[in-house]
Amino acid sequence: MSHTHPATELRATVARIIEKAGSLPAEAAQVADNLVMANLSGHDSHGVGMVPRYVDAVLEGGLKPNTGIKVTLDGGAMLGIDAQQGYGQITGVQAMELGMARARQHGSCIMALSRSHHLGRIGHFAEMAVAQGLVSLHFVNVISRPVVAPFGGGDGRFGTNPCCIGIPMGAQAPYVLDFATSRVAQGKMRVAYNKGEQVPEGYLIDEHGRPTTDPGVVVRSQGPLGALMTFGEYKGYGLAVACELLGGALTGGGTWHQQADDRRAVLNSMLTILIDPAKLGTQQALAQEAQAFADWLRASPCAPDSAGVQLAGEPERAARARRAQEGIWLDDATWQEIQAAERKVTR
Ligand code: NAD
Repeated sequence: MSHTHPATELRATVARIIEKAGSLPAEAAQVADNLVMANLSGHDSHGVGMVPRYVDAVLEGGLKPNTGIKVTLDGGAMLGIDAQQGYGQITGVQAMELGMARARQHGSCIMALSRSHHLGRIGHFAEMAVAQGLVSLHFVNVISRPVVAPFGGGDGRFGTNPCCIGIPMGAQAPYVLDFATSRVAQGKMRVAYNKGEQVPEGYLIDEHGRPTTDPGVVVRSQGPLGALMTFGEYKGYGLAVACELLGGALTGGGTWHQQADDRRAVLNSMLTILIDPAKLGTQQALAQEAQAFADWLRASPCAPDSAGVQLAGEPERAARARRAQEGIWLDDATWQEIQAAERKVTR
């Protein structure tokens, strides 16, 4: 049995659980808003299905409720920030607010955020930047189970290291490119596994390094482990390594180079580059050229069996409009896991 939930009901449920797990009401509400927004945007992998993992991480001590950022370096247009393992939905927003203020002041800002708990959908931060007319680039690494195989390798060695680019487009809706460097997000394998579905070929390898369509190889907590493949063969692999080096090494947050363990916390470190086109003197040109180029792309004839040309950010906006009306569908396994998580923190 599956359930469709209005966003308001899910927000209240998630906020209640996060609060029971130790967060103050304002923090719990912000985490809940962020997770439900991921579902509304069509990314169930980064939505309320993360709650059981967050609860486990709090109980284990790897996720620290009511913990904000600490600025470790303030060089004006260069910021070093320790997120101290607080909720990424809080620390990421705090860090972005600081970074955006500096970008508006100096024209650009390089912000190195280390040791945040799961930052969720990275596009959320690009959306904050473009709303203020800023360009933003994000390179993120993931300290959790190493679930993605290097190109040419036969086991998981790093995380789904997301990369995200936000560009304001003048009068039209912004460009928000936001993706995992794995062929698909790990959470999408959890969603497929919970629905009892197989996934297309080219996503996964099994414990022998052979192709498989069983999402269980990266979801089951016991048994032989497989791995996700990167997108775009060695090119996606190259970008994943760049995310590990920029997001993990350059920020000081750390890279993954050890055997997998069972810890439930998911730590993200993120290198963010913010640019203010107004300070660069190209705000007008950006708006005009972005419009002209987007029009040019959209004039391309529709390929056979295709929905036509879209620009990144459009699918998420369309999903939001649809799901705000229809509600958010959750499979039964996900809903049961959320209820079980609530019981763990109900005294
Ligand atoms: P995805 O494969 O659905 O790709 C999403 C991107 O592609 C979006 O920018 C979207 O607008 C664009 N897109 C989709 N269809 C398109 C089309 N037809 N034409 C043009 N553009 C199109 O996303 P994903 O790789 O599964 O990642 C999902 C989410 O997971 C992202 O928000 C990412 O930040 C997040 N993530 C987070 C972590 C973490 O540790 N915090 C790790 C991995 C992924």
